[in-house]
Amino acid sequence: MSNPSRIKQLDDRTIGHIAAGEVVERPAQVVKELVENSIDAGSDNITIEVERGGFDLIRISDNGSGIHEDDLPLSLDRHATSKLSTESDLAEIGTLGFRGEALASIGMVSELTISSRPANTEGRQIVMDNGDKSQIKPVGIAEGTVIEVSNIFAKQPARLAFQRRPATETSRVVDVVVSHAISHPEVGFRLISDEKTILEVPAVEDIEDRLYDVLGRQAGKMIPISSPPTDSDAPGEESWSGWISTPDITRGKGDDIHILINGRPVAAQPFLQSIRRGYRTRLMQGRHPVAVLMLDLPRGEVDVNVHPTKREVRLKNSWRVLERLERSIAYTLESTPTEPESSGGITGITSLSPDTEERRVVQKPAWAQSAQISLTGEKPLEVKKKDKPRPISQPESSQKTITGIKPISPALSLGERNLHRHAGFDTEDIEKTEPLGPVINDLPEMEPLAQFADSYIVVQAGEELLLIDQHALHERVRFERLRYDESLWQAQERITPVPLELDPRQIARLEARIGDLTDIGFVIQKKAAGYSIISAPALLSASELEPFIHDILLDMTEDGAPIETIEARKDHLAFLNACRGAVKANDKLNLSQMRRLLDDMRRIPNPWACVHGRPTAMRIPLNALDHHFGRHG
Ligand code: ADP
Ligand code: MG
Repeated sequence: MSNPSRIKQLDDRTIGHIAAGEVVERPAQVVKELVENSIDAGSDNITIEVERGGFDLIRISDNGSGIHEDDLPLSLDRHATSKLSTESDLAEIGTLGFRGEALASIGMVSELTISSRPANTEGRQIVMDNGDKSQIKPVGIAEGTVIEVSNIFAKQPARLAFQRRPATETSRVVDVVVSHAISHPEVGFRLISDEKTILEVPAVEDIEDRLYDVLGRQAGKMIPISSPPTDSDAPGEESWSGWISTPDITRGKGDDIHILINGRPVAAQPFLQSIRRGYRTRLMQGRHPVAVLMLDLPRGEVDVNVHPTKREVRLKNSWRVLERLERSIAYTLESTPTEPESSGGITGITSLSPDTEERRVVQKPAWAQSAQISLTGEKPLEVKKKDKPRPISQPESSQKTITGIKPISPALSLGERNLHRHAGFDTEDIEKTEPLGPVINDLPEMEPLAQFADSYIVVQAGEELLLIDQHALHERVRFERLRYDESLWQAQERITPVPLELDPRQIARLEARIGDLTDIGFVIQKKAAGYSIISAPALLSASELEPFIHDILLDMTEDGAPIETIEARKDHLAFLNACRGAVKANDKLNLSQMRRLLDDMRRIPNPWACVHGRPTAMRIPLNALDHHFGRHG
């Protein structure tokens, strides 16, 4: 046995390096700390400059309170802060910083220059070069503070080796600035990367104005969240506010979800599940919405002192807070119908729970169960009254005799209009499409009997009566066709290049991952006038290109990792298009169109659910009808 190694107290410099390792992982992290300091100093104008992703230079200039001349050396010491004085202050933190270690840590691993000039004083400057502090000297600057960080990690080869490419880092810096810009609309921000201004937002009073400035057109498609009225009696003082996207606008990653807790941007990860749950079945597997969600709660109920970078926080009543969020999102989406209505509202017909279902119907595939409905027979059928009249379908024969006269349909609901607003292209002509492959499910041959309310197809399917939601079914059929037709995915040169309007984050990501876009069929050209698409998958029409590129760019963050597998991307492209070209509720169909849809239904692997996960059909077995009408035996 060897002797125990003896324990020694580490010297300050070594301790400093260890601490620096946690606080300063990468240039974007430095930008975050410095921007937070500027905000804490009460600035209403902050300029952030980076060169080569911040590896060469990060410079943050603000017009805040400045640092007192005598405090300059202290600002570079660890655990020296103006934001806390006693232990008890830790329980109620109102500033973004409080640990007093950012400047000290940054100064250990770079050449850090702090120049500051509080009101009515002269400018002063101090330098810390990889741990060595200089003397203070005069400097001519405007009121406020300028902090420069040069050659970060140049003396830490091990850390430098693990850094990302500058382009990736730039895009991360943009993310940092955007999340602070969202949380502090009262501050104007300017971000300059390699001498180009890539974000410039003026100070505004209203967060909604700020959202337009940073999220662009996308902000117009967000809906404000509200809580169910019953929640006002729920225990707890916390409250959620903010905006979420309609379910048709989604991202492969959760990084367009911004969470602010008492104004502090925090990592969204712990909230993603509750958000998805709030969307119920409206989001496809693996997709996330766009959201800006603000949680306000008493300061004593949140502990921000759990992580050196303060991205993670701890909540006293985290379950309660998460459930509240889920309820608000669900309530918001329910009160803003964003999809054609599901079969709810009919009493006397109830969904079977899966286990009852199993007892009654044997050998039903698992995916069919959710769509299975039975008649209970207890109450008379009673159709819930609608505010607006639904059209009554005309029989096929009379449809023919009144050509040219359109039945009066109720206007689309606001939600339905939202859903189809950016469609801008026509409904697919069902009968003109290529036939799908062979019959691949166990559905029998089916005969359409009629269309009801211009929205549902009444179908005889062997021993069952089906009520089919025409939009849901057509959407599913289109999804299968779009997804598996390889020719639709091949890159196709466009006769006229399609110009792209990109925001700063999108440009940063595009620059970082332009090669990956080629892999999925996009060729993008950069000219003085901006970016344009010269080649794209054949599936996409010119008007669809820009929204798709926007969507894909938001999925791109880290280099190296695949954006999303190409397969998932194709799923998503097919998913969006399936809905867009599908017949809608209130579209009149003739019998041969209905026949074609029913025939297609037998040639798809999952005929019972639309791509949003809602049922395509209600099934009423003949024996359930017999039972309902008392025809036993
Ligand atoms: P913390 O923000 O946790 O207090 P820092 O190391 O980030 O720790 O900063 C140390 C101190 O330097 C701050 O408490 C603040 O007093 C001062 N300081 C840093 N940056 C600025 C700035 N831009 N304007 C005014 N004061 C600043
Ligand atoms: Mg700080």
